[in-house]
Amino acid sequence: MNLCVLGAQWGDEGKGKIVDLLTPRFSIVARYQGGHNAGHTVYVKGRKFVLHLIPSGILHPGICCVIGNGVVVDPSALFAELDELAGMGVSIDGRLFVSDKAHVILPYHRELDILAEARRGEQKIGTTSRGIGPAYEDKIARRGIRIGDLADESPDGALAIAVRENVAARNRVVGNGDMKWPDVLASLRQAWTRLKPLVRDTSLYLHREMAGGKRVMFEGAQGTLLDIDHGTYPYVTSSNSTAGGAATGLGVGPSSIGKVLGVAKAYTTRVGGGPFPTELLGEAGERLRETGQEYGASTGRPRRCGWFDAVIVRYAARVNGLDALAITKLDVLDDLETLELCTAYRCGSETLTEMPSDVAQLSACQPVYETMPGWTEPTRGVTDFAKLPTNAQNYIKRLEELSGVKAAIVSTGSDREHTIVRGELLNN
Ligand code: GDP
Repeated sequence: MNLCVLGAQWGDEGKGKIVDLLTPRFSIVARYQGGHNAGHTVYVKGRKFVLHLIPSGILHPGICCVIGNGVVVDPSALFAELDELAGMGVSIDGRLFVSDKAHVILPYHRELDILAEARRGEQKIGTTSRGIGPAYEDKIARRGIRIGDLADESPDGALAIAVRENVAARNRVVGNGDMKWPDVLASLRQAWTRLKPLVRDTSLYLHREMAGGKRVMFEGAQGTLLDIDHGTYPYVTSSNSTAGGAATGLGVGPSSIGKVLGVAKAYTTRVGGGPFPTELLGEAGERLRETGQEYGASTGRPRRCGWFDAVIVRYAARVNGLDALAITKLDVLDDLETLELCTAYRCGSETLTEMPSDVAQLSACQPVYETMPGWTEPTRGVTDFAKLPTNAQNYIKRLEELSGVKAAIVSTGSDREHTIVRGELLNN
């Protein structure tokens, strides 16, 4: 059975570790959306790897990795990551494939990203300014350049024309001198020589491999509440991070997705702007941030921190059809006297048990909390659910009840070994 692993909150849930942990059960790991704004931090035997674009499955010898058509690719970011992997002795030969339909992030996308954020002022989304949003804008506007288009080497072919037109459009918008389209074209031609061996029809590749009995893990970046359709719009990313994105972002049928695993922290974090009902300002939030080391893997930005919000995880269960949860960072809650779990929202005179679609309404919501006792014995490194302190077990059980999904995995530390794997859900 194939498996889709995705974020059930606002991203940074620790998907990297969970994907890494489960990778040996699969032959292929395929990424379906986002760009190099994602940052997966994986610790293997105490060694730290941060991957932005390439699935962390690449750290496992013999596993093949796919960057799907739903991803936007900045060739220079991809090459930097390849260089870093090579420097660490990780070979990608014959193991990494990039979709010919994935869109390319061009130098002007980055500039446009920065300009757009500056224009939003107070309402800024908090993007990573890496050109990802503008690259998706060009894709939807049907003027984007796809990886496969780079094969066109003719001096006055479709690629040259597209680059010329897009750079001219950029020069009309950006008022800081002219970008020269032949320079952009030359850099793309150079990128192609290195990209070429990796590029293929990855939908066909996956289809053939699955038909041959190979198992695939579909890897989502960011999280459900950042999905362009189902997230807290407009404070979202530019792609479908929810499970449906795996089908469109890789060219596989929905029925081949198999099961869906939602990764959620035992508390909640979010980066950038937008509503966050359980956010803790002040000391309590600071404690979670410091203990959980809640600073962006890609940008180093401090993350906003708060209590576990069962309303959003219940919502994630619905829009993704979650079969199970992986609860991460339980150890970060060690030593707290009491814990709060958000069960519903109070909005004016109403109590909402379902996530509102309107971001203004969500911003006006106050969390309704249920208080639970904390635990003093450490959970860090525990690998057996029964060995968790009773109050920690009760916390997980309550969180499951409120979310309506069972936790097949509980993570108690950043290392691969610091994990409780329970339930038959993942063993099929
Ligand atoms: P991702 O993008 O969803 O993979 O999340 P990030 O990699 O940005 O953030 C997750 C961080 O939490 C990484 O530094 C992980 O090593 C770390 N992490 C994952 N699981 C656990 C855990 O159970 N406990 C602790 N303390 N850290 C964890």
